[in-house]
Amino acid sequence: MAISATEQRFIDDVSLDMPWALVETFSTMHRWRPEDVNTSADVIVSRLRAAGIPVEVHEPEIYLSVPLSASVTAENVPYRAKPPSSALSAPDGVTGKLVSLKANPKALRSYNRDIKTLFGGSISSVEEVKRIVGGNIVVMQGFGNPALTSLIEEWGGIGLIAVNPGIDIHWGTCTTIWGSPDLQDMGRKPKIPVVAVNNPDGQKLIALAAGGGEATIRTDLLEGWFTQKIPVVTIPGTDEPEKFALVHGHYDSWEVGVGDNATGDATLMELSRVLWKNRASLKRSVKIAWWPGHSTGRYAGSTWFTDAFALELDRNCLVQINCDSPGCRWATSYHDTRAFSESAHIAAGAIRDIVPDAVIATMRPPQAGDYSFNNIGLPSFFMLSSTMPEALRHEKGYYDVSGCGANIAWHTENDTLEIADPNILLTDMKIYLLSVLRVVNAEVLPFDWGATCDEFAATIAGYQKAAGALFDLSPSAKAVEALRGALAKLAAAPLAKRNAALHELSRILVPVNYTQAPRFRHDPAYTVQPLPTIAVAADIADMTDPHLRRVAQVELLRGQNRLLAALDAARRVVEGALA
Ligand SMILES: [Zn+2]
Repeated sequence: MAISATEQRFIDDVSLDMPWALVETFSTMHRWRPEDVNTSADVIVSRLRAAGIPVEVHEPEIYLSVPLSASVTAENVPYRAKPPSSALSAPDGVTGKLVSLKANPKALRSYNRDIKTLFGGSISSVEEVKRIVGGNIVVMQGFGNPALTSLIEEWGGIGLIAVNPGIDIHWGTCTTIWGSPDLQDMGRKPKIPVVAVNNPDGQKLIALAAGGGEATIRTDLLEGWFTQKIPVVTIPGTDEPEKFALVHGHYDSWEVGVGDNATGDATLMELSRVLWKNRASLKRSVKIAWWPGHSTGRYAGSTWFTDAFALELDRNCLVQINCDSPGCRWATSYHDTRAFSESAHIAAGAIRDIVPDAVIATMRPPQAGDYSFNNIGLPSFFMLSSTMPEALRHEKGYYDVSGCGANIAWHTENDTLEIADPNILLTDMKIYLLSVLRVVNAEVLPFDWGATCDEFAATIAGYQKAAGALFDLSPSAKAVEALRGALAKLAAAPLAKRNAALHELSRILVPVNYTQAPRFRHDPAYTVQPLPTIAVAADIADMTDPHLRRVAQVELLRGQNRLLAALDAARRVVEGALA
């Protein structure tokens, strides 16, 4: 798809002046303690207003867990440590025997709770790991992430020391609760202290564990409900102003967080300016939001917005586009671009039209980022942005991180001005802008649900192969084909009905592919397999206990019912548009 003359006018307006000034200002501002977060919101708001762009500021109370300090002491030697957000605050310390678990080096930042993935075969069963972990402090390579923390707690561990891969200690979070907790979530708040240490110290602690040594972990966190600001710019469209695209990113960060996420905040600011200036050429509206509570509230800002405006999002939001870590040093590749299947071509097309020789691959987003909209069911694309080519990352000896365009300064005190690259930022801002325009200015909404059917068919075929004769997924496969057949005729529907159907399908097909909790709740922050209600089909053949196998078959029967009902409802939506 070539860039249209209208699109080119928007793109030609993109400049570095306002965004780079914000990157520079934010490079001097810590943005993770609640009062500092609000001060940085004021900077965004005052600059938007100075540029004549109207901005609304919400001030909700959200639940935060703000790390203050931590340490590990073993044999009277203190080790430097950082507590991840939401670890148990244990200022008096927890003492126990150290045991080490061998992590799968390929899954150090995994959000997966599967023991095969986490341990790469070094642990064979839950019983075995419980025997090792119970009553002890676990020391293990990796990041103190939610999936791992929840498991160590379930297995009876009394503390976790995550050994980061390099000489720096990374900030992070360890709760599986998405956003501020409700009554059903609150029990999942971690009940053990968790700390991260750097690799040299971690190796010493692993050696101590081998000798049966003890350690004391101390953590200190500030926890409670804090009023935090959420600036939102609304740029009205001319034809269908009630329909809007939501473009968003977090403005709180660890330390001064330049690559993660001052560059994203700057991108959102420049998008606001260019879209506002050219608003006479926008068919539908764009909302641009900056979130607090990403780092210390596990997406509590975006989750609050989702909850507070749930019905408006449900009725009118066309797409959510997340903006995290664009414009970073050496990040010239797009091989790790996240997008749902129906939207992948929008993301890839915008990248290709701005950077014709780009390396592009799109893939399923993990349950992370500010993807707080899956339970409502919004089409979605982008999470992180451009990243370092793999060859360059290996040449530099960099381990895998989750932001900053693969710079290992991510979530450390080193994420400073040198991590941002103005030229790459300029490119990434144009990509974001073009992708937004291709949703809000499209005559026919650009969501390719046929691609989603392809994904579903492949997922179901994979599960069927794994389950063999233990469960029959052919009803699901047939229902996907029936939906695909209906979609093939949708182009014949009148435009308004066609667009209404393309919009409505997301509310059915996104939740069934990404969530297990009902709509308007939030699933836990760990990764689920595609079509999660039938995902146990992948494991049923490995279940040797006949009782467990029967239980899994009951689960699959119920799970397939949910999927079939969704596919049926989706087909009826399409047929309704054709009637
Ligand atoms: Zn980020």
